[in-house]
Amino acid sequence: MIQVLVIGAGPAGLAAARAARRLGASVTLLDSSDQLGGQFWRHLPAARPAARERILHHGWDTFQSLSATLESDGGCRIIRSANVFALETAAAGPGTVHVIVGAPDGVGRKRLSFSPDAIVLATGAHDRTLPFPGWDLPGVFTGGAAQALAKGERLAVGRRVVVSGAGPFLLPVAASLVAVGSRVLGVYEANRLPALVRGWLPRPWQLLGAWKKGAELGGYARGHLAHRIPYKLGRAVVAAHGTDRVESVTVAEITADWTPIPGTERRIAVDAVCISHGFTPRLELAVAAGCALTLERFVRVDDRQHSSAPGVYAAGEITGIGGVDLALAEGTIAGHAAAGGTIGDRALRTTVRGRRTFQGFAARIEAAHGIRAGWPEMLTSDTIVCRCEEVTYGHLCETAESTGSRSLRAIKLSTRAGLGICQGRICGRSVEELLACRAGGGLVDGVNTDRRPISGTIRLGELAAAVTPADSYRLTSTSESSKGTL
Ligand SMILES: Cc1cc2nc3c(=O)[nH]c(=O)nc-3n(C[C@H](O)[C@H](O)[C@H](O)COP(=O)(O)OP(=O)(O)OC[C@H]3O[C@@H](n4cnc5c(N)ncnc54)[C@H](O)[C@@H]3O)c2cc1C
Repeated sequence: MIQVLVIGAGPAGLAAARAARRLGASVTLLDSSDQLGGQFWRHLPAARPAARERILHHGWDTFQSLSATLESDGGCRIIRSANVFALETAAAGPGTVHVIVGAPDGVGRKRLSFSPDAIVLATGAHDRTLPFPGWDLPGVFTGGAAQALAKGERLAVGRRVVVSGAGPFLLPVAASLVAVGSRVLGVYEANRLPALVRGWLPRPWQLLGAWKKGAELGGYARGHLAHRIPYKLGRAVVAAHGTDRVESVTVAEITADWTPIPGTERRIAVDAVCISHGFTPRLELAVAAGCALTLERFVRVDDRQHSSAPGVYAAGEITGIGGVDLALAEGTIAGHAAAGGTIGDRALRTTVRGRRTFQGFAARIEAAHGIRAGWPEMLTSDTIVCRCEEVTYGHLCETAESTGSRSLRAIKLSTRAGLGICQGRICGRSVEELLACRAGGGLVDGVNTDRRPISGTIRLGELAAAVTPADSYRLTSTSESSKGTL
């Protein structure tokens, strides 16, 4: 029987696990979270369920059906709180996956390792947030963090909040804030109307297949109107102000390439601000597996969702930012192929069509809402770019200029940008872009900030401890997280 290991239990991973089980593969599904559902279906913990969780999510029935099917299936082993911290390639097969199981701050965590026949990587994405003066003040949140607190804890990040950045994700963030009692004073989309028209309007008939997404966006627009939330184009939060925490923000008009326009600034009193400029794929395991990346830095896959690494498939946000429907379609195809199915199988026909539709949607999001080249104009020389190591924009520029270096590795080592506790997850891409435009002709050492051989936090004692054989690790209850017995 084919052994398929699925890493990530968001929409893509859940769909992959179900598809692989349908073809009779033995499936193990791992997620570092203590619940299934990933970012899209983040919900209250089982110990504190909502009376009507369903009305708070899009596609909740799909989630319930996927999770119930897998949880009641003896051929699918689900391990929650399972953080994959390394992936080692092997001469044959996709390699060995190393996992630490248990709460991040827990004791007695167990190490497991798996050497399956096929791996489906469905590790999703991080928030991308560009730096600006004051973004390191308490009270400045990424859109995803505000969303996670609202959906997973019913916590509001503030009473008077503005949402700023680029992309359709700003809308669910504002909706979730309102749902937990925040007053959203405005949503500021950096791109201007012509960019949105150029991205969204060509070949409108292609959008027909994505009508569900349109209905979802329509729902957010109605919510905005009902709560009188202004939605402004071509504007951005260009500075956050406060002493111990954010007290106000400056919003300014920006040009089509995101350069702030002097004289358009307006100060707004807030106690929180949520910023999102899209998403960065979580690529460390894919990089460790040896998967080739596209020019846009997503995992390159063929029509079976197979990467360039033998036996390694990829699905969801790590192959392109396209939302939940694309993640579900790609996950289904990846799981099916990983379990030995072929793309021409009748059972996949509708899914393959759906994938094409939603891939088009992803390209439109990038064209309409992508980050524009003028964003560094929002920085001053004392703006912190790497928050973990407190490296300023000025220091990065001075180092690049005084050393004349065009090596990302050398400049990172000289400044420590991207070497702190988040290992460049927050600032890595911004550091790369800032240095690439300083180092005329671009960076030349071929290094990027997605390579993290140890991809999760693990204590040295745990690293040194003996590995529990995966076969002897079983769950006492599918509804409990990571309660392993030996
Ligand atoms: C913070 C955040 C919030 C979002 N909220 C929304 C929203 O409200 N609405 C919306 O339309 N879209 C939202 N998105 C976009 C959303 O990610 C996608 O639409 C969809 O969830 C993608 O599905 P996925 O399966 O590819 O990834 P995800 O849903 O992100 O699932 C990936 C899973 O992989 C797990 N994982 C990652 N690395 C490891 C590892 N090393 N070991 C073990 N497990 C691992 C993660 O815990 C996660 O559960 C959000 C994205 C982010 C980053």
